[in-house]
Amino acid sequence: MSAHAQDEKSVPAPYTAPNNQIRFGNTALFRNLIPPATLEAQSAQEYAQVIHDAQRDKTLLPDTNPLVKRVRDIANHEIPFALKWNDRAKNWKWEINVIKSSDERMVCLPGGKIIVYSGLIDRLHLNDNEIGMMIGHDIAHALREHARERLGRQQAAQLGAGSMPQYLGLSNYGSQQPDIGDQLMSMRYSPADETEADVIGSEIASRAGYDPRAAVTLWNKIDTGTRRSDDGFIWLHPYGPDRRQDLLKRMPDMMPLYAKAVGKTIDQLPNYAGLGRFKKSGR
Ligand SMILES: [Zn+2]
Repeated sequence: MSAHAQDEKSVPAPYTAPNNQIRFGNTALFRNLIPPATLEAQSAQEYAQVIHDAQRDKTLLPDTNPLVKRVRDIANHEIPFALKWNDRAKNWKWEINVIKSSDERMVCLPGGKIIVYSGLIDRLHLNDNEIGMMIGHDIAHALREHARERLGRQQAAQLGAGSMPQYLGLSNYGSQQPDIGDQLMSMRYSPADETEADVIGSEIASRAGYDPRAAVTLWNKIDTGTRRSDDGFIWLHPYGPDRRQDLLKRMPDMMPLYAKAVGKTIDQLPNYAGLGRFKKSGR
């Protein structure tokens, strides 16, 4: 079972927050049903198809477009801080494109293919800090292989729970090749996935110099935008009071990373959108 052993090795270590209090369990069980290279190849194919269709429909914004430049600049600042979260990520061929659309969403497919729909930024009037937090969050879903795990769970359910043990590690996914392109583009995550993406995404974006407090205003805007939207847009990252509380709770760990990235002390940072500096007590 050498393929299985390799998969085990490529699974990132459980996340440990700066205060050593937050850990995420190892979910290799389900992820290992689908080899990462298979999923990354299918993602690249789906990405190419989406870009091809956008070109045909003349909705793919060109390299010279200011919004494309802005989004690529932010993503490229963050990518160096993302690599430690997934052993394979340093070999990913990262690509970033923006499609003109009223959709208020973005995706980062497994393997580092990022598609931003312009409505996310235009309609919600996101500033650079908010875009940074959004990209960090979506990159984190890809780094932690949440899609691979969810598709693996689905695969396991199809195989039948009773027959699970004999399939573990067999990686027979390739022989079935269901069309997962649509699923990759509209992946629905669990609350645990969302929390993990918030924590790791905030850390990546903060280290890259984007204000972690912007996560709060970002998700408030998305929450409001989702409820307002009536043109078929579906938001895929469940957000409620719990996630908001979680974001606020973790802020004291993120603020020092951001302050360091922009060459300031926490005291020198201005307030942001009515949010204070979240200094740890006793400092
Ligand atoms: Zn999410």
